[in-house]
Amino acid sequence: MPPQPKATILGIAQDGGVPQPGCNCATCAYYAEEKQQLSPTSIAVVNGDELHLFDVTRDLARQLLFIPIESKRITDVWLTHGHLGHIDGLGLFGKEAMGLVGIRLHVSETMLKLIQNTPRWNLMLEQGVFLPIPFNSDVTVKISSNLSIKPVSVPHRDEFSDTHAFLIKGPDRTLLHLPDHDRWKTTLAHVGMRSIRDWFRQLQADVVLLDGTFWSDEEISRQSNVPHPPISETISLLGPRKSEDIDIRFIHFNHTNPILYKGNDAGDLDLKGWALASEGEVIELSMVATE
Ligand SMILES: [Zn+2]
Ligand SMILES: [Zn+2]
Ligand SMILES: [Zn+2]
Repeated sequence: MPPQPKATILGIAQDGGVPQPGCNCATCAYYAEEKQQLSPTSIAVVNGDELHLFDVTRDLARQLLFIPIESKRITDVWLTHGHLGHIDGLGLFGKEAMGLVGIRLHVSETMLKLIQNTPRWNLMLEQGVFLPIPFNSDVTVKISSNLSIKPVSVPHRDEFSDTHAFLIKGPDRTLLHLPDHDRWKTTLAHVGMRSIRDWFRQLQADVVLLDGTFWSDEEISRQSNVPHPPISETISLLGPRKSEDIDIRFIHFNHTNPILYKGNDAGDLDLKGWALASEGEVIELSMVATE
């Protein structure tokens, strides 16, 4: 029987993590007090002997605790884009830490250029730590008979690189991983779709991990410089979840997002039936029992 792929959520925070360094907001103070943390957004897809890691964060050691010990050998890395929390663990693969060679690095052309133009990362290419495999937007990469991955271009601040979501297709279920994009108006125009539902239907996604960085538009003073569609806007565009709807789980939470408040402070935030991702959660891409 071919391997049965499954995804595990390794982190649900925005790039700064929770608590964010130097912050004493109610959420960060709570996590500090409880000695808890949330790592930047990343997922792992285990497919037989292969472990495909989507974005590499500085918290990789903590995050791999969510993966069974026999599956921890990372074979492939896929990068969404060049912002801090999505790439700041790359150095862990090199000589100072894991000292690995031959990791397949799936990146867009602009992301590869960023890596080549960054001396410490370029050295890792020269040392054979990473074997770059550039991908093209909307061109499906077949990994095995039971797993294929399609990079989907999305508009997002492109100071360093372009940005991709990943459509991860198993034998029975398809996961769309979309942690960062700017605004629904620009994204839907970019993909030529009229509504979020139409787009996800066209992609044939069953589960979506969706940018939930902020709850509202006025969460931080410099928010117009770091656009993300707020969860409240996404939910108002979607309307309440219906029984036949796909499974959308928000991810990539900024420390200011009130959905992270503990206790009664969360007040009347209404997800209208949609869900929040959590660390360690497993998403089966196959309906065949593997254990
Ligand atoms: Zn991010
Ligand atoms: Zn904070
Ligand atoms: Zn970003």
